[in-house]
Amino acid sequence: MMKERDGGKALLFENVVGYRTQVLSGMCGTKHRLALAIHKTENQLHAAVNDAINQPIKPRVANDGPVKEVVDSPKLSSIPILTHYEKDPGPYIASGIVSAKSSDGTIENVSIHRMLVLDDNHLTMRIVPRHLYALCRMAREKGKNSLDIAIAIGLHPAVLVAAASPAPFGVSEYGVANAMMNGSLTLTEIGNSGLRVPADSELAFEAKILLDKEVDEGPFVDLTGTYDIVRKQPLVEVTKVHHRREYIYQALLPGGSEHKILMGLPYEARIFQAVSGTVPKVTSVNLTSGGCGWLHAIVSIEKQTEGDGKNALMAAFGAHPSVKHVVIVDEDIDVTNLQDVEWAIATRLQADRGLVVIPNARGSSLDPSANQEDGTTTKVGIDATRTLKKSIEKFAKARIPE
Ligand code: MN
Repeated sequence: MMKERDGGKALLFENVVGYRTQVLSGMCGTKHRLALAIHKTENQLHAAVNDAINQPIKPRVANDGPVKEVVDSPKLSSIPILTHYEKDPGPYIASGIVSAKSSDGTIENVSIHRMLVLDDNHLTMRIVPRHLYALCRMAREKGKNSLDIAIAIGLHPAVLVAAASPAPFGVSEYGVANAMMNGSLTLTEIGNSGLRVPADSELAFEAKILLDKEVDEGPFVDLTGTYDIVRKQPLVEVTKVHHRREYIYQALLPGGSEHKILMGLPYEARIFQAVSGTVPKVTSVNLTSGGCGWLHAIVSIEKQTEGDGKNALMAAFGAHPSVKHVVIVDEDIDVTNLQDVEWAIATRLQADRGLVVIPNARGSSLDPSANQEDGTTTKVGIDATRTLKKSIEKFAKARIPE
């Protein structure tokens, strides 16, 4: 059902067999809905994300909140956590955020991690070498064998986008979310280690990452719709569960449009910003759905000088290390219309001048065709902008008069 309706309306499952809880999925399945959630238009989304990363706003903190209505000892099997695909090793939480702090309390990080349920009070999660990974390392260097974390599920779309965004280390993604929400985010502390979750979360866990215990994590269907490999990842112990009296469990279909939009949107915004620093005017950026919302970028620019397309390519590759194929088009091409993009490649590209092949670059660990041992891949850039050496009329779409 979730797969069939992917990219369409959000789904609320009101009667889930064996559970008292309702299940929601697909909330962020379209950019249109995401834009509505932060009172913007789709065209303003990239600027909204960039502005929020550049100027985060500290959220209010309340003593109480709806998420604190009920406190329980952990029984993960009582939560309708979904097993999604055929070869999944078990149920996976796919829409949860993890917040953690440095031991001196000065750095707070909030990030999205997939979490495999192992039993009623244990999980494992994939921690890519980014910010949470750095906090784990810092804790280990202080001689600690665990890192306290808070996990929250059932969240405002801005919180999910912020948690997926490439805000620099040291910037709390809660501040980014709050900026996107015009200052309306309220947090509340759970447990006694100063960890915060959105006060209106549906569900939150107090937990600790056990730094010296590793278990198998995976295989998991990621953005590519193919199985990611099995890795050793730390064991996580859940110590307490907080939830609203009648909470809704928020699910997310791995490899579905919601997954692609949440992961891709902050990187579209980043590509937009990086290319804007290189060529005079960027019109639009799309990390395409067919490109897994992650590996294929199409960028439209207003070309001023002959090399602009190439410089735009280099900036786009630099802005998103996982991107594999980038196409640069002119401003009259709609980056969301792949027919239009192909037309640009057909009528504006000369491959001996417009094609760039970059072997042995760092790529995405998710691409099964890449070298998944050392993380390298071959990247291709296509400059499908029209040459300025010919009259612009030659490339114009002919129109039928009114
Ligand atoms: Mn971070």
